[in-house]
Amino acid sequence: MSSSTGPYPAGPAPAEGVAPKPARKLLIRTWGCQMNVYDSGRMADILAPLGYAPTESAEEADMVILNTCHIREKASEKVFSDLGRLRETKKARAAEGRQTVIAVAGCVAQAEGAEITARAPWVDIVLGPQTYHRLPEMVARASRAAGAVIETDFPAEDKFDHLPEARAPQGPVAFLTIQEGCDKFCSFCVVPYTRGAEFSRPAAAILAEARQLAANGAREIALLGQNVNAWAGASPDGHTWRLARLLRELAEIPGVARLRYTTSHPRDMDDDLISAHGEIPSLMPYLHLPVQSGSDKVLAAMNRGHKAELYIRLADRLREARPDLALTSDFIVGHPGETSADFEATMRLVERIGFAGAYSFKYSARPGTPAASQPGPVAEAEKDVRLQALQAVLRRQQDDFNRACVGRVVDVLVTGTGRHPGQVAGRSPWLQPVHATGAAPVGAVVSMQLRAALPNSLSATMAHEESAAA
Ligand code: SAM
Ligand code: SF4
Repeated sequence: MSSSTGPYPAGPAPAEGVAPKPARKLLIRTWGCQMNVYDSGRMADILAPLGYAPTESAEEADMVILNTCHIREKASEKVFSDLGRLRETKKARAAEGRQTVIAVAGCVAQAEGAEITARAPWVDIVLGPQTYHRLPEMVARASRAAGAVIETDFPAEDKFDHLPEARAPQGPVAFLTIQEGCDKFCSFCVVPYTRGAEFSRPAAAILAEARQLAANGAREIALLGQNVNAWAGASPDGHTWRLARLLRELAEIPGVARLRYTTSHPRDMDDDLISAHGEIPSLMPYLHLPVQSGSDKVLAAMNRGHKAELYIRLADRLREARPDLALTSDFIVGHPGETSADFEATMRLVERIGFAGAYSFKYSARPGTPAASQPGPVAEAEKDVRLQALQAVLRRQQDDFNRACVGRVVDVLVTGTGRHPGQVAGRSPWLQPVHATGAAPVGAVVSMQLRAALPNSLSATMAHEESAAA
């Protein structure tokens, strides 16, 4: 969860009759959540018509974008060490007469703005998550301007209206941002400050993007939002739809075999959404529903707006609606004021729910957030002890869940080839990586029997081979 860096699909080919722009290379490094992965793909889409093609190598990149995460201190610091290395690359390229544009995007850019160019004057562009639709203009200004271009405002125009309609093919699994920002102001979190107020894209725009993703080969669509289940969008019939209705519409799109959504807040799990889990077959039996703590006192200090009991009730109702539902969560240990009794309450909640996976973090003070000035800081050593204890239980629960899947025949979405020759790799309905010997095209949904739970994946056999052999 802390980092994901990697290739993104090539941009669309230039339209017939339009002279291609001279080839330039673009490197995007992405940290943080899936929303940043989505944003990186969209930035590549915007820059493709300017002639920028993807590269993995900083040495050959004419433009480098660091798409950053500010959620924990470590994530921000990594950006500055990367910038230090890029300074040397930029110098070496300049000595060969090659220009390099360096841009810092995302939440660190939003939070630190001009501080970035003060610390790293070789940065040309600083852009917040709400301004990346203006990238082409910023690149042009950066090439002309003597100083850096800094755009970290929250512009009145909707960035989604200014993004190219065409999206590069993303493969069988595609992300689609439907909601941004957050009005919940949890004590520890920078998101309301870096991503701004809650905003829901209109249903028609989401449905159009989903149809296009499906036409480009997407079989699984993951809807994204900092508070995705708070989505309340204008609908084509003039009403406001909530997420359950949107999911029902998306499920009708030909080719869309699987739907997911992340990340959700317990307070926004409405009755219709809970029912949708039992009613929409393509809605995967998997939900990431962060609880953060099992102590009501800490939940109040965190300003989460719910008690542990609400979370337990939600889990029970979701499992009633969809008995094979796997729940995953986020936890923070060592929030200011958390005592060992509070931590024990978190451990009890974990035992009561039984998670299929989780992310857990030590509380990290973020400047400007309310928790940073709350009394009762927890010592680092104590945070370490609590995190280890929590992770041991969560790891055991994840292993138990994976082992309980062995023997089941499940649909696996094929996403590529396995590590060994003759293998296919894919993912189960519960997002577990699965590999099996055999052949199947990428994007196929294949019935497989899960055979063994390995530390980070499940091995399987193709179910049709089983029946052929029987
Ligand atoms: N919106 C989601 C929610 O309400 O649960 C979470 C979004 S946040 C990007 C992802 C996770 O990072 C949080 O669930 C929390 O566990 C963790 N996190 C956020 N701020 C943190 C901080 N200051 N210290 C440690 N972990 C933090
Ligand atoms: Fe951050 Fe809380 Fe909003 Fe999630 S709900 S993004 S943790 S403020």
